[in-house]
Amino acid sequence: MLKDMPERTLPFRTVPSRRPCLTAVLRMAGLRPTKQRVALAELLFSGHHRHVSAEELHGEAQGANVNVSLATIYNSLHQFREAGLLREVAVDASRSYFDTDTSDHHHFYLEDEQRVIDIPSSAIVIQNLPEPPRGMAITHVDVVVRVKRAR
Ligand SMILES: [Zn+2]
Repeated sequence: MLKDMPERTLPFRTVPSRRPCLTAVLRMAGLRPTKQRVALAELLFSGHHRHVSAEELHGEAQGANVNVSLATIYNSLHQFREAGLLREVAVDASRSYFDTDTSDHHHFYLEDEQRVIDIPSSAIVIQNLPEPPRGMAITHVDVVVRVKRAR
């Protein structure tokens, strides 16, 4: 359903109260719209695309008086990802960001600021990909370009 939307537009931006819409989005993604999931979806899908870590979302939840543990945030983010509502950008073994833009694109990782910004998919040409192992198909290729302030 989200795939049919024009790029960089979320389906619930123009709806005055997004709660019923978010409930429907969660249901369509196969997730039971629990109070916590709807509250987290409200924080995540605020009308513009963003990249957020579990810790950042936890801080936002606390700021919005949404009482959820960091473990619940992790679980919910992974459930949203598995349901296709988010994409995970893993910058290293211990650090992931969750992207509300699930379309194909790449990222700069700003090492000094520990945040990611988008690179349009058309800006990187990927050539000479190896044949996937027998019986497998490539689902997507995402590139993380790591940068830090030049000295
Ligand atoms: Zn992104």
